[in-house]
Amino acid sequence: MRVAALIPAAGRGRRMAEEIPKAFLPMGGAPLLAHTLQQFESCSGVEEVIVLAPPGNGVQPAEELVKRHGFRKVSRIVPGGAERQDSVYAGLKALGPRSDLVLIHDGARPFITPDLIERVVAETRGSRAAVAAIPVRDTIKEVGEDGRVLKTLTRDCLWEIQTPQGFHYSLILEAYEEAFRDGFYGTDDAALVERLGVEVKVVLGSRYNLKITTPEDLVLGEALLKVKRG
Ligand code: C5P
Repeated sequence: MRVAALIPAAGRGRRMAEEIPKAFLPMGGAPLLAHTLQQFESCSGVEEVIVLAPPGNGVQPAEELVKRHGFRKVSRIVPGGAERQDSVYAGLKALGPRSDLVLIHDGARPFITPDLIERVVAETRGSRAAVAAIPVRDTIKEVGEDGRVLKTLTRDCLWEIQTPQGFHYSLILEAYEEAFRDGFYGTDDAALVERLGVEVKVVLGSRYNLKITTPEDLVLGEALLKVKRG
């Protein structure tokens, strides 16, 4: 099975309160997106990578980044859309059916490892749909808009869902087409597949695989990099 990865990195990163798009923010001397792409470059199970860049003036800096770092697997850089789901759909269409298995991984999760990528690929081969995830540690409660607790959820069966998420290409394309027909926007890619009644498996992810969302995450990311680099 030929494996391709889509890397949505088109978000403006509003919660970062920075002028430059999040993908290009520096961490340990290199842009976030470069850290992420390096892991896919190093993963022998992935043949091709498509990057979704900020629409407008984000494509050229992404091209320069790929050139500067010599990422040979990146075959295309495509402008993303208004929402993450629009960006991923653009990537799926750009990829086409030449890959049987597609991984979708947030550009903003730079601590992904080739090992986790490979484990998601392996599960997807058999299951058609698999996502990296970790069990929640805190108690999760449902809270109403007025700040009152409505319900305490059973922690034992709650997982935090990460990326990569892996799918057979024909399945994820069908899920995206159906979602857009219905005007449905999900908070992850697997939610679109679940709507089709298809089973999704979880693969044990990692606490290090954090998504850089706020300035605090960037502080954590810098610290983590230092530990990893020794
Ligand atoms: O906003 P958030 O951090 O949840 O986005 C997750 C990933 O999706 C990020 O890597 C971001 O760049 C990407 N994204 C995108 N297109 C958008 C919004 C987000 O590719 N319109």
